[in-house]
Amino acid sequence: MGRPRSDAPTDFEFIIGAWGAHGVTPLQISNSLSEGAHGVTPHNDGLTIGTINGDYEFRSLTFFSFPGKVFMRARPLIMVFFCALFLVFIPVPNSSAVHSKEYSMPEKQGGAPSDMKPVRDEKLWKRALEIHRKAIVIDTHNDVTTPMTNDDYDLSGTPPTPYRTSIARMKEGGLTAEFFSVYIKPHYVTQGGAARRTLDMIDSVYRAVERNPNDLMFATSVADIRRAKRQNKIAALMGIEGGHAIEDSLPTLREFYRLGIRYMTLTWNNTNNWADAGRGEKKHNGLSDFGKEVVREMNRLGMMVDVSHVSDKTMSDALDVSKAPIIASHSSARALSNVPRNIPDDLLKRIAQNGGVVQVNFYSGFVDNATVGPQSDQRAARLKAQQDAINEKYKDDPERRAEESDKLEAANPLPPLPLSKLIDHIDHIVKVAGIDHVGLGADFDGANDMPEGAQDVSMLPNITYELLKRGYNEQDIKKILGENLLRVFSEVERVSRGMSKSISGDGSLKRIERIK
Ligand SMILES: [Zn+2]
Repeated sequence: MGRPRSDAPTDFEFIIGAWGAHGVTPLQISNSLSEGAHGVTPHNDGLTIGTINGDYEFRSLTFFSFPGKVFMRARPLIMVFFCALFLVFIPVPNSSAVHSKEYSMPEKQGGAPSDMKPVRDEKLWKRALEIHRKAIVIDTHNDVTTPMTNDDYDLSGTPPTPYRTSIARMKEGGLTAEFFSVYIKPHYVTQGGAARRTLDMIDSVYRAVERNPNDLMFATSVADIRRAKRQNKIAALMGIEGGHAIEDSLPTLREFYRLGIRYMTLTWNNTNNWADAGRGEKKHNGLSDFGKEVVREMNRLGMMVDVSHVSDKTMSDALDVSKAPIIASHSSARALSNVPRNIPDDLLKRIAQNGGVVQVNFYSGFVDNATVGPQSDQRAARLKAQQDAINEKYKDDPERRAEESDKLEAANPLPPLPLSKLIDHIDHIVKVAGIDHVGLGADFDGANDMPEGAQDVSMLPNITYELLKRGYNEQDIKKILGENLLRVFSEVERVSRGMSKSISGDGSLKRIERIK
């Protein structure tokens, strides 16, 4: 349906812009065009006709602009012209835009009612999409690998509840490279089988690529990611989350490198036998001697050292020891949200000096803990009986227990934070560490509650739009979307080339013997 943009009747201009007529068919658009042409007096500043949103997209077009009298005389001809135009411009499926989701979230994700929809600057949105489509877009942390492993979820299908990642959504989000997280729950330490679980999860990523060769490309290098972009595929990379995966063995670490692992988060929330976690027991005063050897071996192999989840002292030690830039694959700024998982300003500065990058985590609890923490506690109290029942029912199956708990939480979402709160973290890291040291590590499918418009991988163009709105230029935005991570990754590759010629031959055989 058209809407006048001004009341002064002199010139007339039609603009078809991305305005958000959800579910409107070409026929309806054509009808609304007729309505507009017949029912609205010509206006000097034009008439905006909505576009088909969600499945289809029309680019913004200015058709004509001329005096009102001429318009009235030429009206029949113009109508014929527009009818012909719509026969020619049959809409094609839109593969990269996510506009419908920015302001109209699926119900399960707690979308705002339609009368609260913010107005989008369509010119800016178009510009955001242009930049986003050209950019290399990298997300360094996605936990969909868990249902891929546990439920044999194929990324070409619809993700099982409560997960949200699919090939369709990755394409919609304009993603170039995804780091699939090989997250090893700590019970594999106590029960045994951490390395085997790692192998099982790695296999699920190979399986996804083999099942979807036209959409996914197995990738282990910067060159692979750039090639995926050229070939219009999504580069599938892997990072281990939780250093306990290597079962205290440098040979095992090397084996994981061989299989394609390109970063390892030194700890998860549990302190392991050689590194203290941010939320774990402080046993080693940061990295133990073996932990330092792990970091050096990762440098030698060309595996990025990831300091998300580790204690501040471990992070500081890793920065001291590492000869290559490090990453935080999914962490935000502690100055804005005071949780141990976020990085304090002094360490942000040190990561900048080290040449590394902090990939901002989207999880609402890390974005604004002051708001979300109490809400989360209230929800936990409300759901306690159900949670206890899950814990009891699946007490011998920690994978299933986690999945059922996630489902329960996802079915009871918190009110989403505004997207601006997430962008504040990017801004803050840019101010403290610089534009070259921030990127995106969303943590999709590893956390349920995310800000409005950033709830799944299809919505990444919204980040680009918000950055443009804040005055970031194209070059800055490309750095944040992926070029910063590529710079770090290629430096890690360069340092590795300078340190060794072979994977095992040059490597230490060091292992920590079993701790009983
Ligand atoms: Zn994590």
